[in-house]
Amino acid sequence: MNCHRAEKLISRLVDGRLEAGTAARLEEHLRVCPACAQLLADYRQMKSMMSELLLPETEPLPYFEQRLRARLQSENKPSLWAVVERWYAAAVPVFLVVAMVLVGILFLAQPAEIQLSQSELLLFQGQSPLNETRPIFDAQRPEDRQLQLLFAGLDSQEVVRRGKQ
Ligand SMILES: [Zn+2]
Repeated sequence: MNCHRAEKLISRLVDGRLEAGTAARLEEHLRVCPACAQLLADYRQMKSMMSELLLPETEPLPYFEQRLRARLQSENKPSLWAVVERWYAAAVPVFLVVAMVLVGILFLAQPAEIQLSQSELLLFQGQSPLNETRPIFDAQRPEDRQLQLLFAGLDSQEVVRRGKQ
């Protein structure tokens, strides 16, 4: 076994993913090659440091990389950033709809109020005086006017009669 082959197998040995025959041949090489033995020592130290940092309480893992990857993926899901992202994804359309409704109210409500007040002005200026004056005009039809004149004449005769008495 050469060093190039040994370097490739060292990580698998540390992770416990090496078949017994290959492991025996690798250990044979490590016994005669200080460089690869040092590489194995470095790799084991690095792995134990990562285990202390990321998996403090766990026992040695046969499939360290896979478990680490799965743990990182499972930790990504409930992270704060994911919650914030999900909240923004829901909040942005809601905000846009609310903003559009508010803008629509602002632009549509003002002309509507002006139109309403104009119609109200027309109502008061046109119809309301007509409604108030119509009974007077109706009462001043010719026959009513003659009756009013008749009563006015009677009143004046009464005044004359009273004056004579
Ligand atoms: Zn070597």
